[in-house]
Amino acid sequence: SDDRVFNFAAGPATLPESVLKKAQSELINWRGSGMSVMEMSHRGKDFTSIIQKAESDLRSLLDIPSDYAVLFLQGGATTQFAAIPLNLCKPDDTVDYVVTGSWGDKAFKEAQKYCKPKVIWSGKAEKYTKVPAFEDLEQSPNAKYLHICANETIHGVEFKNYPNPKTLLVADMSSNFCSKPVDISKFGIIYAGAQKNVGPSGVTIVIIRKDLIGGAQDSTPVMLDYKIHHENNSLYNTPPCYGIYMCGLVFEDLLEQGGLKEVEKKNKNKAEILYEAIDQSNGFYRCPVEHSVRSLMNVPFTLEKAELEGEFVKEAAKEKMVQLKGHRSVGGMRASIYNAMPLAGVEKLVAFMKDFQARHA
Ligand code: PMP
Repeated sequence: SDDRVFNFAAGPATLPESVLKKAQSELINWRGSGMSVMEMSHRGKDFTSIIQKAESDLRSLLDIPSDYAVLFLQGGATTQFAAIPLNLCKPDDTVDYVVTGSWGDKAFKEAQKYCKPKVIWSGKAEKYTKVPAFEDLEQSPNAKYLHICANETIHGVEFKNYPNPKTLLVADMSSNFCSKPVDISKFGIIYAGAQKNVGPSGVTIVIIRKDLIGGAQDSTPVMLDYKIHHENNSLYNTPPCYGIYMCGLVFEDLLEQGGLKEVEKKNKNKAEILYEAIDQSNGFYRCPVEHSVRSLMNVPFTLEKAELEGEFVKEAAKEKMVQLKGHRSVGGMRASIYNAMPLAGVEKLVAFMKDFQARHA
């Protein structure tokens, strides 16, 4: 509608307007139940149908094999930084981390409390603008798993192919979850906070191969133990019911769009338009990330005249394009263009960028 802005935030992020309207229409009385989803018992038949439908739609979307469990958890992706080593390792086990940005680094640092993680590749010296070639990776001989961040939200670096580690591959997909098809069978665990591509904050989705469940360290809090959540179908304690419902509406919407192949096509098109505008600006705008690994989701860029960045953000906001300021740790701009960012939003941004350049070059 007219009073909505184009929201380029990295997360929580824009949601499809059709999904918000559907939620609005069901807010006070969900399908004749006489109450909102927020007010329902998480163990009643209505909510059971909601969480089961959400799971089965996600399984269709990502073609999740039956030997994988889907868990709807809380605590954000950050909680998984600890849950993963606690569930997969003993305290003396070695694990490998490839660090392509700040989130991978945070995951590594948290793992240090629960096992012996090793950074086998870091992009830090090159300011996190690259992803390593897998042939070059030297894995630790007995590493329990290899952890990657599939898309670094702050630096805009995205894996386009996944490594085939000798051991398990574990991926933080928070910021590119459900943005394209993924071969789930390549992974031991995929995890993602919902608040970028698939829903509101408060829901964390974990997709885990079932044989990896059940070996948690004795000290693992129940809330971090995958076995507890799996045995209880994500209903061990009160789950984030409304958030799960919203994720379910987004999954329905993605299926209606034709599934993740179609969604990927749209995402590629949007990203191409934006990167092209940056690359063809004669250096007025610049994206530092190596071309082959540029994120389809988060597009960081700087202005040659850095002193204009404040003005850029201000003028864009006047035209109803908001949240374009880059992360405080890297500066510059960042346009997050998740699934729900319409093509019209990207086109408007690009038109604005060209106009801004014409006025300030
Ligand atoms: N991993 C990535 C890639 C992220 O983008 C974020 C959040 N921006 C996190 C982890 C942390 O997620 P949460 O805030 O849900 O704990």
